[in-house]
Parts: sequence; C-alpha cells; structure tokens
Amino acid sequence: DITPVLVSACLAGQRCRYDGTASPDARVMDLVAQGRAIPFCPEIAGGLPTPRPACELRHGRVVDRDGVDRTGAFLRGAEQGLELVRLARCARAVLKARSPSCGLGRVYDGSFSGTLVPGHGLFAAMLLDAGVEVVTEEGQEGG
Ligand code: SF4
Repeated sequence: DITPVLVSACLAGQRCRYDGTASPDARVMDLVAQGRAIPFCPEIAGGLPTPRPACELRHGRVVDRDGVDRTGAFLRGAEQGLELVRLARCARAVLKARSPSCGLGRVYDGSFSGTLVPGHGLFAAMLLDAGVEVVTEEGQEGG
C-alpha cells in the first residue's frame, strides 16, 4: 500500500496537545520519517490555541473544562482533516487514543473525572464514516 497514512500530529512528536505536550510514538515517528505518514491535528486546524482548556465529549457536543461549547471548532478541524485524507487518498489513519477528537472506541464521558465510556472522537468518527480504516497507537481498531 503506497498511499500515506494520516496520523495524529501529537503522536508524531508535535506539541499540540491541550497542555502543550506531545505523545510521541516510535512507530508513528518512523512512518513520518520514511515519508509514509501525514501528521495532522484537527484541534489546531479548527483554530484552537495550544495550550487550551481540556475538552471532553458530552451528549454529542464538545465542552471544555470551563463549560464552553467548542463543538464548532472541533467540527471545522475534523472537516479539514477529511479533506486532507481525500486529497492524499489516505486509506488508513493512526490516531491518539481517548482524545475527544482522535479517540477510537472509548473516550472520556464529559465529567472531567477520568471516566471512560464507549464512543469515538469527532474526527475518528468522521473518518470511519468516510470508510477510512482507523487504529490507535494503543491498538484499538475500527472501520
Ligand atoms: Fe493529538 Fe488529535 Fe489531540 Fe491534536 S486533536 S493533540 S492530533 S489527539
């Protein structure tokens, strides 16, 4: 398969997480170094700053720790990622587990208490809907 893999930018070592850190993953960084992966962060693409307040999904919306609804920015960023996937013909994505954007299969429940519930991040859900095969760096699989 010669098409590039879309990867969460934080897994590629970019410090784009809400708290200004990265989540570097050796396998993802190898793919990027070989020119086989495209790093992308939907939250940055959506116009959110780094650092930014932590966000979680609640009843289909995205809220930050202060209760501000961030759904619009999350959706805008995810849509840009979907456009990139189509332009680059990515058939696969490796995304960061548990993120309200990138998480697959389980995400935090919106109570900011560290509680996980079944579900996907907004970006992961959009990629699955588009037929992209999504996995996380921890091995969760979907699509
Ligand atoms: Fe990483 Fe995705 Fe969060 Fe961006 S939105 S920091 S790529 S998990």
